[in-house]
Amino acid sequence: MERERATPAAGRALIVEDEPRIRELVALHLSLEGLACVEAGTGDEALRLARAERFDLIVLDLMLPGLDGVTVCRAIRRDSPNAATPILMLTARSEESDKVIGLESGADDYLTKPFGVRELVARARALLRRAGAARAAHAPDAAGIVSAAGLAIDPSRRQVRAGERAIDLTALEFELLHLLASRRGLVFSRETLLARVWKDDRHVTERSVDTLVKRVRKKIEPDPENPRYVLTVWGAGYKFADADD
Ligand code: CA
Repeated sequence: MERERATPAAGRALIVEDEPRIRELVALHLSLEGLACVEAGTGDEALRLARAERFDLIVLDLMLPGLDGVTVCRAIRRDSPNAATPILMLTARSEESDKVIGLESGADDYLTKPFGVRELVARARALLRRAGAARAAHAPDAAGIVSAAGLAIDPSRRQVRAGERAIDLTALEFELLHLLASRRGLVFSRETLLARVWKDDRHVTERSVDTLVKRVRKKIEPDPENPRYVLTVWGAGYKFADADD
């Protein structure tokens, strides 16, 4: 099932889709964009490839035989060289739940089938552009410091600098801010934040997330009532402001 197309390499894409016609269509048009495409028809094969090699873009169907797209996506994010690779999820239905599932699992964007080729290419380009810009502007520097929207977030000191002002955060406050700022613009649900920030602590509820966000805002936001860094996405969760916000 695995086939590599020889193309001028502007990067490498992993295309995961069990329907051969769609998979080939996606691979064809992304290879025209200069991406070398590797194809996989099952979730298990996709995960094996994503754990073995680094890609610049992953197109991942939600409904797959064996491991489904959400499981694959979470596994890639948790433990693979592609933890930060942009993932475009393909979903069969346009229901809100699909979108939330896709984004909660760590996908960066989603496309509902049937989709047009131009839309696919536009989304892929946008993700590659955003990933490139993120690498250039927001990637942790040698000391692991994440720079976002004028804040310098330093894990070694567990400290945030806003210009000349140094702000000390607690471990949880820092963890939350660092996670959000490392994936600017990506919406994290309260459930995901609980799992990623508190990990195995079972004595917390989704309300704890809101309380922690409030505390972080109080420390870092010039006007905590009108936040410009940590934003609420109604009905979905929280995100760090996009570059353009
Ligand atoms: Ca499918």
